[in-house]
Amino acid sequence: MPTVISHSIIGAGIASFSRFPNRGKVILGSILLAAIPDSDTIIMSLVGRGTMFDHRGIMHSILVACLTAFLAALLFRSKKWIEPSEIWKLMAFFILAAVSHPLLDGFSTGMRIGIGFFMPFEMSRYIFWISPLPLAPLGPAHLLSQRGLTLFSTEAAMLWTFGFGALLWTKRSGELYWKITAIVLGCAGVLAWVIALQR
Ligand SMILES: [Zn+2]
Repeated sequence: MPTVISHSIIGAGIASFSRFPNRGKVILGSILLAAIPDSDTIIMSLVGRGTMFDHRGIMHSILVACLTAFLAALLFRSKKWIEPSEIWKLMAFFILAAVSHPLLDGFSTGMRIGIGFFMPFEMSRYIFWISPLPLAPLGPAHLLSQRGLTLFSTEAAMLWTFGFGALLWTKRSGELYWKITAIVLGCAGVLAWVIALQR
C-alpha cells in the first residue's frame, strides 16, 4: 500500500478534472475519500485481526468506496455546495477517488494479505499480477527512517507526478507553461513505472 499522502494526492488529481463552482471543496472531499480506507488500521486495533475489518479488508472494498462516495455527495447537496442536478456527476468523481485507493494498494509489492475488493459478498483477498509500488510501513516511526525516504522518493516518481500533473494541467488560469510542466510530470511518472516494472 502506498502512504496515505500519496493516496490523497491521487484523489486530488482525479477531482481536479471536475468543473464544479466549488471545485476546491470537491478536491478536499476527494482527498478525504482516497484516504479513508486506511482508517482500518485504527479499526483493526479495536476489533482485532483476522476479521473482515482487518487491514485491507472491507474498508478497502468497492462497496465501502461507493457508500462513502454516496454519503459525501449527499452532504455536498445538503450543504448546497453543488446544484441538485450535479449529484451524479459528483458521485462519479467521488467513487473514482475512493476506488483509486484499493486499486493502487493492489500494485504494492510484498503484500502478504491481499485486498478484499468484493467484501462482504465475497471474502477472497486479491493481489494484482504486477506489484511495482513499494509497501509502506504502518508505523509513522518507520516513515522517518532511510526506508521512509526511499519510499517517499519512489512514490513521488510513480504517483505524485500524476497527481500534481493533473492539478497543473487543470489549473483554471491555463497558462502554457503549466500544461508543459504537467506533460513533463506525466512522462516522468510513466518512465518511473517502466523502470519499476523492469526490476
Ligand atoms: Zn490502503
